[in-house]
Order: sequence, then C-alpha cells, then structure tokens
Amino acid sequence: MAGKLFVISGPSGAGKGSIIEKLLEKDPTLYFSISATTRPKRDYEKDGREYFFVSREEFLDRIEKGQMLEWAEFAGNYYGTPAGPVDEKLRAGCDVVLDVESHGMYSVKAMRPDAVTMFVYPPSFAELEKRLRNRKTETEERIRSRLEQSRQECTHAEDYDYIIINDDLDIAAAEAAAVMTAEKCRTAERLHILKEDKTL
Ligand code: 5GP
Repeated sequence: MAGKLFVISGPSGAGKGSIIEKLLEKDPTLYFSISATTRPKRDYEKDGREYFFVSREEFLDRIEKGQMLEWAEFAGNYYGTPAGPVDEKLRAGCDVVLDVESHGMYSVKAMRPDAVTMFVYPPSFAELEKRLRNRKTETEERIRSRLEQSRQECTHAEDYDYIIINDDLDIAAAEAAAVMTAEKCRTAERLHILKEDKTL
C-alpha cells in the first residue's frame, strides 16, 4: 500500500516549520521532503537539512531533466521538490509531507489529486508581523515584502482541503496530526488495505 502525500503551506511566520517538526517527532516514519532552493542560506540553516542550496543553473538543469515534482519562483528565488525521494518513499508505503507555497500546492494537486492539502493560517496579521520581527533574520524592507507576500499567500487558503489556525502550536500540531490520521482512515484507503490483506 502506497503512502499518502500531504502538502502543507502557509505564510512565513505562520508556524508551518514548527508544526512539521512536531509531526515528525510524533511519527518518525513520516518523511519530510527537503526542497531545493536558489535562495541564499540563512545563518542557522545547514545544506541538506532545511534545503539543498543550489545555483540557478543547477536548479534549471534539474527542471530540464524532469527531476522536480513541482517548482515555483517565490520572492525572486526558485524552490522545488525533488521528485525521486518522494516517489521512492511513497512507493515504500511511507507518508510524505511537503512544505510548499501555493503554486506548488496547485501543481502537486494537479498531478496527484489524492494529495491532502493543509493551509496554516496565522492567528492575525499583527501576530504574524510580531513573529517575523522576532526572528531577527530579515531587514525592515524584507519584513515588509514578506508581510505583503503573506497576505497574498493567505488569499489561496480557501483552495486547500483543511485550514489549521496556529494560535497555539500544540493545538495546531494536534489538528494537523488529526487530519493525517482521519485521511488514512477514509473508507477507500481502508478497503484497499483490507482487500490487500484478504480480510475482505
Ligand atoms: P523560505 O524562504 O521562508 O524558507 O520559504 C519561502 C516559501 O517557499 C515558503 O512559503 C515555503 O513553503 C516555500 N517552499 C519551500 N520549499 C518549496 C518547494 O519545494 N516548492 C515550492 N513550490 N515552494 C517551496
């Protein structure tokens, strides 16, 4: 039985990363797809942990070779999901989670309509601004532009299967985990397993 593909999006500072961390802690068999990006590495980031940091040439070459499941240009940089590891994990029966922006979600959903999508919403834009400022990783100009992008990104929330409002991290992570569990209990999924096991 193939694994399930979950897509999580949400604006910068909404807490997607922290929610995904909690999901991975809770279920060590869950596979988080590490994206490739042309954006410069931040100080706290490590190549191969948050992202694979690659040049624009390398990124475009990978697209040309059909190695990307999806990709998008966001804030002047390319971001994309390497297809190989995702396919491999799904085939091996592992659930996979992608952290992608909305264009990435639309591409994934078009190719794999059975992917389950969740949008992480900040409790308010004032709170989002506070979180972005607290990160102290960006200049004032970048913060302004990130906030504008965030508002833009939130206009796509209605196209997702689920919305998680991240007011309290533990509650938000529990909601995301509940969505994953419920999706795996869908009758179609369960019938598949039961038939494979010859229980039915
Ligand atoms: P950041 O620069 O803050 O790490 O990420 C910026 C945006 O890029 C976030 O909304 C994040 O979800 C998105 N992103 C990260 N990896 C990918 C990817 O592989 N594909 C797409 N389409 N978006 C991504």
